[in-house]
Amino acid sequence: MLIDTHCHLDFSQFDSDREAVIKRATDNKIDYLINIATNIDSSFRSKDLADKFSSIFFTIGYHPHYADKFNKDDIGKLDSLVKNKKLVAIGEVGLDYYRNLSSRDKQKEAFREFIRLAKKLNLPLIVHCRESQIDIYNMLKDEFSDFGRVVFHCFSGPEDFMDRCLGLGAMFSFTANITYPQATKLKTLARKIPLEKIMIETDSPYLAPQKFRGQRNEPSYAHFVAGELASIKNTTFEEIAAITTQNAKRFFKLDES
Ligand SMILES: [Zn+2]
Ligand SMILES: [Zn+2]
Repeated sequence: MLIDTHCHLDFSQFDSDREAVIKRATDNKIDYLINIATNIDSSFRSKDLADKFSSIFFTIGYHPHYADKFNKDDIGKLDSLVKNKKLVAIGEVGLDYYRNLSSRDKQKEAFREFIRLAKKLNLPLIVHCRESQIDIYNMLKDEFSDFGRVVFHCFSGPEDFMDRCLGLGAMFSFTANITYPQATKLKTLARKIPLEKIMIETDSPYLAPQKFRGQRNEPSYAHFVAGELASIKNTTFEEIAAITTQNAKRFFKLDES
């Protein structure tokens, strides 16, 4: 069994065959999927998916790409979702200074509001971080004494940032970009992080594994990530599956949902 801790099945890329994609995941022993919200509408769509499919849990969040559209009243629009039993985290939220699709000030404003919401609701936080390590670290440190309930998704380093966050107890999740031949740095990072701190994700529809590179990704491909981690960690697929599943169940409290 595997858990895909980060996918976007509410996106239009899945409009034509969403149910088949979800069934393929189940058939390939991806027992649970966490559908990750990227704005207010996406939070509601994610909740609808969790209502409809027993294998799906959901989050509420606001991707930094869309932060220019964020305003403080938006948090209140999510009130009807916060008591839902299948809501397992806040995210994805964070800062993206690589693509800079929204202004840095608005990205920070949205990120801060959702960090506070995670604290208020006592939920874990899924962080998107690209070229923004210093600001992310400082903003998280402003609100949290440790990073035990923070996961850096689609983690890409750098190593000194990883070490500081590991020291504070953070988790890291890896996508199928770890299967790309040129991903040597990423493989080095994954080798260094204790397996107890690693979770598996696909970030579908993005980042399909090497075998399907350039095509739409889907949760059933999560086993490619587990397979690559097994070779990086010099262990078996079964060991990777068992430990990352345990990690995800513990981090997101899936058995209590
Ligand atoms: Zn992301
Ligand atoms: Zn994502």
